Amino acid sequence: MVQLFAKDEKIYPQRTHGLFRTLKWTAMVVLLGIYYAAPWLRYDRGPHVPDQAILIDLVGQRGYFFGIEIWPQEVYLLVGLLILAAIGLFFATSLLGRVWCGYACPQTVWTDLFVLVEHLIQGDRNARRKLDAAPWTLEKIWKKLLTHAIWLLIGLATGGAWVFYFNDAPTLLDGILHLDLPGLTLVWIIALTLSTYFMAGYARENICKFACPYARFQSAMFDRDTLIISYAGERGEPRGKHKIGTSWEGRGHCIDCTACVVVCPMGIDIRNGLQYECISCGLCVDACNNVMEKMKLPRGLIHYDTENNQHRRADEIARQAVPTRGRMKWIRPRTVFYAAILFLVGGLMLGAIVLRTETELNIIHNRSPLYVRLSDGTIRNNYQIKVLNKTHSDRDYAVKIDGLTTRRVELLGAGDVAVPSLRVPANSVGEFRVQVMAEPNASARVPVHFILTDRTTGKAASHDSYFIRP
Ligand code: SF4
Ligand code: SF4
Repeated sequence: MVQLFAKDEKIYPQRTHGLFRTLKWTAMVVLLGIYYAAPWLRYDRGPHVPDQAILIDLVGQRGYFFGIEIWPQEVYLLVGLLILAAIGLFFATSLLGRVWCGYACPQTVWTDLFVLVEHLIQGDRNARRKLDAAPWTLEKIWKKLLTHAIWLLIGLATGGAWVFYFNDAPTLLDGILHLDLPGLTLVWIIALTLSTYFMAGYARENICKFACPYARFQSAMFDRDTLIISYAGERGEPRGKHKIGTSWEGRGHCIDCTACVVVCPMGIDIRNGLQYECISCGLCVDACNNVMEKMKLPRGLIHYDTENNQHRRADEIARQAVPTRGRMKWIRPRTVFYAAILFLVGGLMLGAIVLRTETELNIIHNRSPLYVRLSDGTIRNNYQIKVLNKTHSDRDYAVKIDGLTTRRVELLGAGDVAVPSLRVPANSVGEFRVQVMAEPNASARVPVHFILTDRTTGKAASHDSYFIRP
């Protein structure tokens, strides 16, 4: 049968060491540490309120982030946060290229962790290749079984940690230990265990190549001053094997050792130029720097650089001038634009959080009927009042109506009262029906202003509505 597609070769990344490898280890420890530890942080919000610092309480319909409590009505804060994260990512990408992909993306972090497990049990690149090609011996079986068991445990820890963000972590852990946990939680744990196992254990670089949409459109954030991984061809070529002690005259510094290729988690050769698969992880930079040190040549044959610098250097070489290293241009229209949006959205979010009130008032004027004429000629309008008490104690609120000379105000169920008082339990929404009676002989539609005053703190919330007459 004619093969139309080449079989994808499995990639066995070789371990390297250096500055960028250390940065990647550090990013992994910090990010995984935050992910696993965050649900265990406590934050005292007073009695009858969860004390988990970061919690998405789906049942109680609240989001908690330390001192910030997000109600369903404040979902715009979450939207703002997502916009902030997206613009932050665009900003970082326009400056530093695919730094997110190389160091912080969960797919990269977990894959790195899985490869580390593989490396510790099965050995480095060549040993792993050999083991895969070898027949099924006892040694191969225990090494593979142990690797997959640890991968599954990491997957379980990943799914397990995720559900802690949606439940009180100590209570849920107790449930898990006693095999008593909600069915939906169990489904999430199983789904995340298996997806982590599959994506970091098997799919790996294929997720970045074929499944990740961000990998595809982030080149739109690149310009000629964005930092990319570049091979200094003008210095490296013509490449070729080199014997220690022989001259470098008339040849390039690349000794064609392929150290930069075998460490690459994406399986590419960066000497062929920038490719969409490159996640800017810098491991080829480390590998090549180690080779250059051994050869007693300057480091940086592969390095982070910009396209503009590459072209400038090529020009200098063509003019037979000494090539210079050039600088990073941080301030550019694109980066200024992203930074401005970041500040704007960040400022709006900060303003929304700082100006957030403890009480919210919503008034709906009943439409059917719009008004009722009572037997004494008085006109009555009905209103639905919704009060959000975002505090952690029960509150009484006084309701006042400005802009209308009222004859009577009645709170349904409480009778005719001069100033109706609404009691709303802590951390909840109170709904009330109020009837407002006024003179018949005035304009047909009067704007009115409802004012709600917290009897404990004196703080007020208000809402505009109207009073309708025939
Ligand atoms: S590691 Fe450096 S010297 Fe070796 S092949 Fe890659 S670019 Fe050439
Ligand atoms: S080419 Fe270099 S920077 Fe790009 S993915 Fe491979 S190792 Fe990482």
